[in-house]
Amino acid sequence: MAERISTPSKTKEIIEANRFAFKKNFGQNFLIDSNILDNIAACAGVTKEDCVLEIGPGIGSLTQVLAENARQVVAVEIDNTLIPILKQTLEDYDNIEILNQDILKTDIDAIIREKNGGRPIKVVANLPYYITTPIIMDLLENERHVDSITVMVQKEVAERMQARPKEKEYGALSIAVQYYCDAKLDMIVQPACFMPRPKVASAVITLKVLPERKVKTADEKLFFHLVKCAFGQRRKTLMNCLFHLGNLGFSKEELAELLEELGWDTRVRGEALGLEEFAALTDKIAQKKA
Ligand code: SAM
Repeated sequence: MAERISTPSKTKEIIEANRFAFKKNFGQNFLIDSNILDNIAACAGVTKEDCVLEIGPGIGSLTQVLAENARQVVAVEIDNTLIPILKQTLEDYDNIEILNQDILKTDIDAIIREKNGGRPIKVVANLPYYITTPIIMDLLENERHVDSITVMVQKEVAERMQARPKEKEYGALSIAVQYYCDAKLDMIVQPACFMPRPKVASAVITLKVLPERKVKTADEKLFFHLVKCAFGQRRKTLMNCLFHLGNLGFSKEELAELLEELGWDTRVRGEALGLEEFAALTDKIAQKKA
């Protein structure tokens, strides 16, 4: 194992030698705890068979550990001032490709095709907090060919991903994650493990993408549309959300009737519905619209 980039002294040395200034708007909190990095690679189950997509390599702390465990690592970094630093810190590795791009504008399907012959890749990242939901939703809803997603996120977001109906954190992200994946909380990580320290605790979570969806529905697009409507205005009843945000073409009376046919109270809120209920609602609406 080569010298670790992630020790506090080495990280400080790299930052100072390159006069690197942390950019808050890119969510730059670098990991400085080597044990956590080893644990992330272990929780992701990375082996020499794997092609790994890393989002936001920073100065390469996690990239280094991934490269030592994987066959190939593709790391996408938005900050161009980090590219020359990465070239230097990772110069001993011939299985890393760095792309200077915004991951939200990156053709992930092309990476999977070109770097892994279309076979599923693993996504591993210490995610910048501001893209957590959009990137997870992109990977899942667009059904990118991904085997698993192991990510460091804010602890509260990890809780949202695992939340159950009626819990405070339950919402559209919980449903998307639980529809496509089995989610496992790997560890809680304290602010002291990062440079600079974030204000809140973080967590590593692994989302194992399932070969089949957890529930069957007649119309997946409608299912997610209804989920988004149901949580669009949390304080409103499901009926009001569907009426005001759903654009479904039903009157309130028709919606009430539809909910009664499902055997539900017309005052039910979206936060009370699980995957099965959203699937039943989708099928009922699809059937009425047919
Ligand atoms: N992986 C490094 C580590 O663990 O020390 C850095 C993690 S830091 C939390 C997030 C990284 O993502 C930063 O390097 C940041 O510049 C990068 N980043 C932010 N937004 C991005 C985007 N839209 N696309 C790609 N990288 C991004």
